[in-house]
Amino acid sequence: MTQATQPQTTATSATFKALTCKECGAEYELKALHVCELCFGPLEVSYDYDALRRQVTRESIQAGPHSIWRYRPFLPVETDTPIDVGTGMTPLVKSNRLARRLGLKNLYIKNDAVNMPTLSFKDRVVSVALTRAKELGFTTVSCASTGNLANSTAAIAAHAGLDCCVFIPADLEAGKILGTLIYNPTVMAVQGNYDQVNRLCCEVANTHGWGFVNINLRPYYSEGSKTLGYEVAEQLGWKLPDHIVAPIASGSQYTKIYKGFQEFIKVGLVEDKAVRFSGAQAEGCSPIAQAFRENRDFVTPVKPSTIAKSIAIGNPADGVYALEVARKTGGHIESVTDAEIIEGMKLLAETEGIFTETAGGTTIAVLKKLVEAGKIDPDETTVAYITGNGLKTQEAVQGYIGEPLTIEAKLESFERALERSRTLDRLEWQQVLV
Ligand SMILES: *Cc1c(COP(=O)(O)O)cnc(C)c1O
Repeated sequence: MTQATQPQTTATSATFKALTCKECGAEYELKALHVCELCFGPLEVSYDYDALRRQVTRESIQAGPHSIWRYRPFLPVETDTPIDVGTGMTPLVKSNRLARRLGLKNLYIKNDAVNMPTLSFKDRVVSVALTRAKELGFTTVSCASTGNLANSTAAIAAHAGLDCCVFIPADLEAGKILGTLIYNPTVMAVQGNYDQVNRLCCEVANTHGWGFVNINLRPYYSEGSKTLGYEVAEQLGWKLPDHIVAPIASGSQYTKIYKGFQEFIKVGLVEDKAVRFSGAQAEGCSPIAQAFRENRDFVTPVKPSTIAKSIAIGNPADGVYALEVARKTGGHIESVTDAEIIEGMKLLAETEGIFTETAGGTTIAVLKKLVEAGKIDPDETTVAYITGNGLKTQEAVQGYIGEPLTIEAKLESFERALERSRTLDRLEWQQVLV
């Protein structure tokens, strides 16, 4: 549980060069730091883009592993042997049936509900953060989590042989808690909401010398989300989409998908193109959507109350940057009710065979809302990011979906039940038509 002093001198192939303050531009060494000492702005990893342009080609990427590490030169690690548990390169699914239902022509789902190893996009950020944590000499890793981050940190720490202690709000879904405990980390269930958990963790980070993936390692962690941009560009045949819709909690993932696209343009891997960035929040925790609607450039914290617990952050660290991205790209940040979120989960499942969690339901419901409001053009190539798996939030849809037909182990019992279910279907359709 100690923090080694400094990383070894940077290897010659490393293309990341400093931590840079997003507000004042001050530069810092590549240590476990996340806040500017001068202006308290957040720190971000900066790169040598000339070196990247020389080093990286489409072919060199395609020759790499079938995981996020095919983009290693764009990620803030020095090692040639990062922690690779098969994270990334999730399917980009052409979603014709959902598209038809919504009135779109070119819709894709980026399906991180099947990401490895813990079935959410968080595996991307944690693979990067823990690889960097090892380079910086940390032996204990930790996080403040809304659920998925704890799953991912615990699993990948287990694989990497790191000690792990995670902090979650005590009222999380059963699947998220069990899906953390199975890896046998220390789990602190805090009596409070995520923002209170996070505040506690900031204090622990200062006193214990642990690597908190989303606090003192945040600049490295957040870079992992860029791979959601890279993969979509590569999977579209080295082209950028016209419009993306992604969920927003702290705003980290959303802003880093933008950074990923910009970097690919900068080093010449894709042609320059304007991509509109739309964001999705749950109405019960929508501080960024509210600021967007009211045309504010600051975010007023709220107290979360929604079934979309994985994106329930009331005081979002990257809120103002998310607003900036939405405005400068001509996108929209919208919110939807819990009822619409459940409908979104069902719609995606019924049309595409993808079972997403509440965050994904939020994204689909916002996608629908934007199409209906004429804010997404039917011809636009649109990508919706599905970031988590529905098996982890089963209680959200319990009572809103059908039930199995219990029958005896006899043919006639089956026939009777089948007839009954067909009659019920007909009745439902008649009601729809009335
Ligand atoms: C954490 C999370 C997000 C978004 O998180 P940011 O803090 O905005 O990066 C989206 N979807 C799921 C399922 C998540 O767990």
